[in-house]
Amino acid sequence: TRFDIVKLSEEITEEMQLITKQNQNIIYEHTGLTSTVSLDQNLLKNCIINLIANAIKYSGENTFIEFNTEITNDKYIITVKDNGIGIPSADQKHLFQAFFRAHNTGSIPGTGLGLNIVKRYAGLMNGKVDFESTINKGTKFTISFVKDEKTNHSNN
Ligand code: ATP
Ligand code: MG
Repeated sequence: TRFDIVKLSEEITEEMQLITKQNQNIIYEHTGLTSTVSLDQNLLKNCIINLIANAIKYSGENTFIEFNTEITNDKYIITVKDNGIGIPSADQKHLFQAFFRAHNTGSIPGTGLGLNIVKRYAGLMNGKVDFESTINKGTKFTISFVKDEKTNHSNN
């Protein structure tokens, strides 16, 4: 069903800002001529919360997290980028496996399920999840959806 992704994202940003570290700021920006999307709002919200929770957890104080949503003619793109610990390249191929945790998490707690859920939920909406990460620099996750061809010519 249709909902306002900008409104949802602003609400998520406000909620997640409450659990950030000292001077860690979530910066939300959006582009697109419209702000409504045809997706499952609960699944998408769960995905975004998981990515932002990771960005908070795996980056330090005095950093910022960039959260973006973009609506184009044929796609919806959601990105969450942090300036945190990054993911060792040897670990990257295992990242979506249930219970997998990278080797640089040290004493940071977690069960290794969040990303597995993000991937499955995105898949249920025919979306895909990608990431780019550099150790000790940061990580950017992208969830992208190709708009349904049948409804493409209208206004979604
Ligand atoms: P939880 O189930 O509570 O989410 P988790 O955060 O360990 O636990 P995932 O969210 O599935 O599990 O992430 C899997 C692993 O990927 C993490 O343990 C961490 O090693 C790595 N990871 C995920 N997001 C980031 C990030 N933004 N920066 C650095 N490493 C990350
Ligand atoms: Mg997690």
